[in-house]
Amino acid sequence: MSDVPHRSGSKVRAKPTEDFIYTELYNAICERQLLPDTKLGEVLLAEHYGVSRTIIRQALMRLSGDRLVKLEPNRGAFVARLTLEEARQIYAAWRLVEAEIIREVSTTITPEQVARLRALIAAERQACEAEDYPLLTRLSTQFHIQLADLCSNPFLSRFIKELIPQTSLAYFYEVRKMPLCTKDEHGEILDFIAVGDAEAAVAAAKAHLDGIEAALDARAALEPKASLADKLKSRMPSMS
Ligand SMILES: [Zn+2]
Repeated sequence: MSDVPHRSGSKVRAKPTEDFIYTELYNAICERQLLPDTKLGEVLLAEHYGVSRTIIRQALMRLSGDRLVKLEPNRGAFVARLTLEEARQIYAAWRLVEAEIIREVSTTITPEQVARLRALIAAERQACEAEDYPLLTRLSTQFHIQLADLCSNPFLSRFIKELIPQTSLAYFYEVRKMPLCTKDEHGEILDFIAVGDAEAAVAAAKAHLDGIEAALDARAALEPKASLADKLKSRMPSMS
């Protein structure tokens, strides 16, 4: 699995590459701008980005490899979705992996690494106050990914990078209702890690992920979906 892509600059003037379009769609799905079951029309995307349908198809194939997009014969591409049960299984796996990462990182973390994570948490708080939920979602994800990157076991960090994007496909909850903003849970986890109290950090991380999982709500699945065209117009940078 490749590394989680970062957003590219939006001022690019050259014709977008397949990699750029892949990253744009990847981020839009992970930031919940494109919700599960949204149809990803090749023609619409090709027109929006000013590229051939072949390029779009290649990007969609890669996203399908990441299990973020499902390709259906004769129907086209859609943002994938999880069942509530699958979402719960992902959180169960995440809790286990997160605990192992925290146990190790609590014994190895340096003051510089703590400072970097604190800066990230401060940025999260700002995004929360600005009610910028796509940014908040991305930064919150980064907290867990940066923590995983401090771990010496590359398999554990790869697991996390594979698991977290999948949680975007559970649209059983709304980010704004998640317990991120009300309490500084990432800060609490980091405080325990910084003083080497691994078990308290693991307990705080478990409570954090339990809280997010508890916000899963099957009723939210009934929300109306915005179309790809609306999203392309409103949020995602176009090449034109
Ligand atoms: Zn978190």
